Amino acid sequence: MSSVRCRSLLSWYQLNARSLPWRETDEPYKIWVSEIMLQQTQVKTVLPRYLDWFDQFPTIVALAATSTDDVLKAWEGLGYYRRARFIHQAAQQIIVEHQGRFPTAFDAILALPGIGRSTAGAISAFCFGTATPVLDGNVKRVLKRWHGQVDASDKQLWSLAQQAIDKSGEPASWNQAMMELGATLCSAKSADCDACPVNENCVSAFQVVYADESRKAVPVRNVHWQVHLHTCPEKGIWLTRRPDSGIWAGLWTPPIIEMNSTPDITPAYIHQLTHRRLYLYPLLSDQNPQGEGRWVQSIEGYALPTGIHRLLEKVA
Ligand code: SF4
Repeated sequence: MSSVRCRSLLSWYQLNARSLPWRETDEPYKIWVSEIMLQQTQVKTVLPRYLDWFDQFPTIVALAATSTDDVLKAWEGLGYYRRARFIHQAAQQIIVEHQGRFPTAFDAILALPGIGRSTAGAISAFCFGTATPVLDGNVKRVLKRWHGQVDASDKQLWSLAQQAIDKSGEPASWNQAMMELGATLCSAKSADCDACPVNENCVSAFQVVYADESRKAVPVRNVHWQVHLHTCPEKGIWLTRRPDSGIWAGLWTPPIIEMNSTPDITPAYIHQLTHRRLYLYPLLSDQNPQGEGRWVQSIEGYALPTGIHRLLEKVA
């Protein structure tokens, strides 16, 4: 990848970059939170939540001092709640190991919970100007298409990404440009090669074969859950906390029992996760609930998964 090719992508980015709040700062705390929020959530969903986050947790110190429940609640609607738990644990680790200041060394960033090589690369490049590449799903797709290597391994892609950022001369902008290209012109669903700044050098230009790319799609398993809705006018609704691992770890839900699929009943709500499709069947009950949990008059103060919110709206 020559420096001329790098320049055309960087110029395109300068002219076409979307204006996003995390691009207006090099403050590590703000970059870090944006990178984690954006890992598996769309920009339009993240935008309002990102600004709210800093109203609620203005500093790493404030975040570390908050309860896990409050952090999960603040994360509500963003999905993949494990990320919120990691952010909270990482904030506490930063207090203990780095005196409350976000670490500057790449290895120290990588050692924080929830931060992998790609996220550490993004934070380090954006905040400290290091030539550390991002290799998220978007960037992988662009590299594979650009080099015509649909079957490239992660090791090969890291090598290509490193060579490119080394040549770019502008690591932060390079990472941003690659991510932007993958999020816009060279997306999973379409490739606008006409408008692409690298179309003269891209092996796959004007001939992307989507079938080749999708053949390794991760299988989705159907899961059928009976959701026991114990409600009482005086006490509210009975909620239990999910286990610390697995689907919706640590969140509050009504009691859930896995069941076999039943062709006779239709689920009230179907919630799609990356590897699971949850079929939710509400079961209204005026019986006293069994096991651990609590009656809550209002679910406002509790972090509930979006699937349960939607189910409750359906049966309200
Ligand atoms: S030319 Fe087409 S396939 Fe190649 S990087 Fe650009 S948009 Fe993607």
